[in-house]
Amino acid sequence: MSAFESVCHYFEAAAGVMDLSPNMKKLLLTPEREVKVQVAMKLDNGEIATFVGYRMQHNSARGPMKGGLRYHHEVDAEEVLALASLMTWKTAVVDIPYGGAKGGISVDPNNLSENELERLTRKFVDEIQDIIGPDTDIPAPDMGTNAQVMAWIMNQYEKFHGFNPACVTGKPLELHGADGREEATGRGVGLLTEALLKKNRLSMSDVRVAIQGFGNVGTFTADYIHEQGGKVVAISDVTGAKYEAAGIDIPAAMEHVRRHRSLAEFEASQEITNEELLTLDVDVLIPAALGGVLTRKNAEDVKAKFIIEAANGPTLPDADEILQNRDVIVLPDILANAGGVTVSYFEWVQNQQYFRWDRDRTRAELAKTLTRSFEKMWNIATEKHIPLRTASYLMGIGRVGRATVLAGI
Ligand code: NAD
Repeated sequence: MSAFESVCHYFEAAAGVMDLSPNMKKLLLTPEREVKVQVAMKLDNGEIATFVGYRMQHNSARGPMKGGLRYHHEVDAEEVLALASLMTWKTAVVDIPYGGAKGGISVDPNNLSENELERLTRKFVDEIQDIIGPDTDIPAPDMGTNAQVMAWIMNQYEKFHGFNPACVTGKPLELHGADGREEATGRGVGLLTEALLKKNRLSMSDVRVAIQGFGNVGTFTADYIHEQGGKVVAISDVTGAKYEAAGIDIPAAMEHVRRHRSLAEFEASQEITNEELLTLDVDVLIPAALGGVLTRKNAEDVKAKFIIEAANGPTLPDADEILQNRDVIVLPDILANAGGVTVSYFEWVQNQQYFRWDRDRTRAELAKTLTRSFEKMWNIATEKHIPLRTASYLMGIGRVGRATVLAGI
């Protein structure tokens, strides 16, 4: 099943509970606009390289569309569309006034120099500048992109449209970024893990945690869990996974990655594979890298009682069903990793108002937004006896559907 079919599958499960009409389903599933562009540039050695870039605009019923920009060699139209539609439900679940979009370039950024990455980004902005903007569609970081890439996007966009910091979020602090945006997704994952444990009469200090992916989301998730007394026994990146029964020294691992850009040489008592990490004997499993990692093949072997979907789309529908039957509780991506888009919204608000918040305010507002959404989702799931994912989709689809009807077709 493709990534977009997976999202549609989860949508259908919730639509069934809501008794949504076939016409409304079709309207909500159909993307508003799909853009595919050629991104041609000169490499440092003078050769021409041509890549394909995408911006998928799924739905704008609740406001300007919002979604990250991914640089990864596996990016394709179908995956970007799936991620765009996830953004529509995600922004609605946390009730921020946005729709959903996503972008990406099919490229391995590790094979490009810093100068090449900048040229690639600027060329991509040249191609899509007329369909993005602070009131239409606002990009943000995702896999393979960061604050520096966002700074280039802002600068290039401003060459066409003038001063416009709200045209992109996740920018560096020195260039209209928000204090607290970089940590927001991981911090949100941590806060929500705590909330879920609490509902199950557990606390952070009771659990052992494995985290797949040690990039932006994985590191800040690990940092928060570690700070709150949780034991992170396994972490990983694209080079492999590390296991330490007594708990990994997370600050040391973060420092190592800051210096070496990878976990490859980080010392731990056991080296394991990314696949083995998923089935470790832990209480909480947090996939925080790629989508589609929990499948029919490994879902039976997952030992964790709680799965927190920090990555987008880590659980395929077959695996989801197996996990449900085994009473594994899955906190779905459309809430679990919504801390990032929530603080992106705060950044956009600050940019629009030319007024800066401090990190304490950002953290407090983030916790308020996520806790409110989590409580609502939990109550719906409990009242209707449905999984947390279906309850989240119910919230998201309900809000987008009502906005669509109120505005009129
Ligand atoms: P990142 O590029 O900062 O880090 C990705 C991490 O995954 C790196 O450690 C990388 O080595 C690792 N990785 C890559 N391929 C892997 C593989 N095959 N096996 C194991 N690990 C692998 O990306 P990120 O921003 O941390 O995003 C991670 C996930 O979180 C993505 O699914 C993304 O869509 C999602 N997400 C990110 C944000 C955000 O604010 N950055 C917000 C919401 C969701």
